[in-house]
Amino acid sequence: ALPSTPALQKAFHKPSSKPAVFIPVDRSPEIQEARLKLPILAEEQVIMEAINENPVVIICGETGSGKTTQVPQFLYEAGYASSDGIIGITEPRRVAAVSMSHRVAKEMNLSHRVVSYQIRYEGNVTGETKIKFMTDGVLLKEIQKDFLLLKYKVIIIDEAHERSVYTDILIGLLSRIVPLRGKKGQPMKLIIMSATLRVEDFTDNQKLFPAVPPAIQVDARQFPVTVHFNKRTPVDDYNGECFRKVCKIHRMLPAGGILVFLTGQAEVHSLCRRLRKAFPFRKNKTEGDEEKEESVEETRKFKKSKQKKTMPLPKIDLNSYSVLPVDEGDEDREAEMDDDEDAVGSDIDLDLGDDGLEEGEKSNSSLPLYVLPLYSLLAPEKQAKVFRPPPLGTRLCVVATNVAETSLTIPSIKYVVDCGKVKKRFYDKVTGVSSFKVTWTSQASANQRAGRAGRTEPGHCYRLYSSAVFSDFEKFSPPEITRRPVEDLILQMKALNIEKVINFPFPTPPPTEALAAAEELLIALGALQEPPKTGRLKDLQIAKLSCPISPLGVTMASFPVAPRYAKMLALSKQHDCLPYAITIVSAMTVRELFEEFERPAVSEEETEKLKGKKARVIQMRRIWAGQGPFQKLGDLMVMLVNSVCPDAGLFVDPKMKPPTETQVTYLRQIVLAGLGDHIARRIQAEELLDEKWKNAYKTPLLDDPVFIHPNSVLFKQLPEFVVYQEIVETTQMYMKGVSAVESEWIPVLLPPYCHFGKPLENPPPFYCPETGRIRCHRPSVFYRVGWQLPAVEV
Ligand code: ADP
Ligand code: MG
Repeated sequence: ALPSTPALQKAFHKPSSKPAVFIPVDRSPEIQEARLKLPILAEEQVIMEAINENPVVIICGETGSGKTTQVPQFLYEAGYASSDGIIGITEPRRVAAVSMSHRVAKEMNLSHRVVSYQIRYEGNVTGETKIKFMTDGVLLKEIQKDFLLLKYKVIIIDEAHERSVYTDILIGLLSRIVPLRGKKGQPMKLIIMSATLRVEDFTDNQKLFPAVPPAIQVDARQFPVTVHFNKRTPVDDYNGECFRKVCKIHRMLPAGGILVFLTGQAEVHSLCRRLRKAFPFRKNKTEGDEEKEESVEETRKFKKSKQKKTMPLPKIDLNSYSVLPVDEGDEDREAEMDDDEDAVGSDIDLDLGDDGLEEGEKSNSSLPLYVLPLYSLLAPEKQAKVFRPPPLGTRLCVVATNVAETSLTIPSIKYVVDCGKVKKRFYDKVTGVSSFKVTWTSQASANQRAGRAGRTEPGHCYRLYSSAVFSDFEKFSPPEITRRPVEDLILQMKALNIEKVINFPFPTPPPTEALAAAEELLIALGALQEPPKTGRLKDLQIAKLSCPISPLGVTMASFPVAPRYAKMLALSKQHDCLPYAITIVSAMTVRELFEEFERPAVSEEETEKLKGKKARVIQMRRIWAGQGPFQKLGDLMVMLVNSVCPDAGLFVDPKMKPPTETQVTYLRQIVLAGLGDHIARRIQAEELLDEKWKNAYKTPLLDDPVFIHPNSVLFKQLPEFVVYQEIVETTQMYMKGVSAVESEWIPVLLPPYCHFGKPLENPPPFYCPETGRIRCHRPSVFYRVGWQLPAVEV
């Protein structure tokens, strides 16, 4: 058999050129024909020669040019997947890892046993796997078990332009692993693939790659796209503007698919509904009905357990956490990764209604509109619909979030409608307070969006903003690592024995404040060994940024959850609390869980009603029953069970008994131990300066008061001390995931955050007959911010 493309055939016959091996692939004629049309096929020889001759190669090419689907095939054919190593490809998004593995398997006419994928919750990797697609988080976890990644011959880091934190860390780590593999005589190739030309962070970075890696540019065969700017920029109602624009295109312009970019799931659904109503299409009705599958269950009223005061309060033992071996066999862990582009921000005005239709827009345009939503949390079967041709006699209209910007290429799009906005999660570097904000996107991403219109023929992009506004956009969005807290990454790196994180070759380093905040939190959680308290301040600061991991930290790093939650799990082996702690942590870490409400289950009013407390009760009942769309939670629970107690044979029974009152107390203490720095105290009557702060809380880090989120069961109870999972800024600063804590637990469970009041001079020690201990006279205990707490025995 001959290599499949003319370029490769030429290369294959050149006497001096590699590859020496050629593995034939049996592709169908249709696939082969489609492949040959991809721009990257023309560059196969250049790409393969560069890879053969260099340890690190960068490939840049427009979305749709064939990087993801073709480069793994080039490598496979050139014999890079063999008995002593396979080809690994990382994707920042789960969707891409799964769908690309399916696509490549299909193109190569190979089974999923050979072309496989692995994401956090699932995978189909076998001993026969030769090409493995995975999320970047999965590969990071693998490095912890095998630093040299000996099972891979090639690692491809795909979508590097997205600059996801895991991708960035992986590139930093691989910049060291590749030379080590070379020295070991088992060379490995690293290929970084990017959709944009902006690769200076990788190429002009001496710390990262001392020898500048070659960058190959693949010229995309892009048809011209005419960009139309709005004369003026609509201030608020870009949703309405999108609707009007799609209506206009559909009624007035020739055939061709429409792709609309909006910022989030709720907006996507809202516009889909509106469009379906305006241009009814019989089949669309059934589509809408599908969403009813998560119909709301009848809720039984829970008997409110009367709160009894029981004395004495049980205490968890901070020194008795479980140090367990890391489970070697478990590959399917992936550090928590959020799909930010679909994250909810409930503060956004979504009230579009259907009556916003302009006169005449319910027109009977002859062609029905085939409307499909696309966002990353959408079920894969529903996502796949966008790749299929629309039903005959209809026009395709995909309403998407920025997931359609680079990772997925939708065929036959001729018109793009770009609202110009993007929903992003913003974090405060020091406090970690996050807020979702809809902001203008970058020029690079607006151009990406426009490019989607010119894949198959010349197209048009309608930007719902003026050219003046566009020229004010930032050129590129800053990498994620500079925008979010990094404690999870730092713990993972420390577990790899990278102590001086500050010296790590990040493509773009996170801000020093973020690194310091992360180390401080990890020290407080007991995951890092505290530096000695003596020495010069400067030395101390340096020491603080290079603390080694502690045994507890090793345990924590082995859990597939962020450090705070890992701490909770590590403590929960006591008092039979583990199954409950696993359930709590699973519920707290699967963010999608409560975001389901963004998706209209039945109707908008119903959804609105559901947002309250009752909804939580229903949700929790579904969780315990392992039902409905919450399969992921069940999977995470199983995975946590396996990683916490690999050989305990522990089974988390979904119908398990509710915890006893004592266990509830332990669980609250465990939550406090994990969220210790996220403490808040209700503003006391005497401190109240303004009536509007009556139910407000103060936290150590923020000047402004914060409130308990109305969805919380504690919204009305208002305990004096609470811990919270996160503060989200919407109309107010709201604490979410709130749990009540008793003030006397704080000095016991959070010693790093407390200090004692000034002792008397020469305090007289005294003997305590009840405990048989000598007690020092300690007048008071203070939380760092000066809240006085009850005295404790020392
Ligand atoms: P890149 O990685 O450069 O963005 P891809 O390799 O993802 O490009 O895509 C190359 C081509 O393969 C595109 O034209 C795309 O439409 C097509 N393609 C990708 N996935 C599928 C699929 N599941 N079904 C049909 N075509 C697909
Ligand atoms: Mg790609």
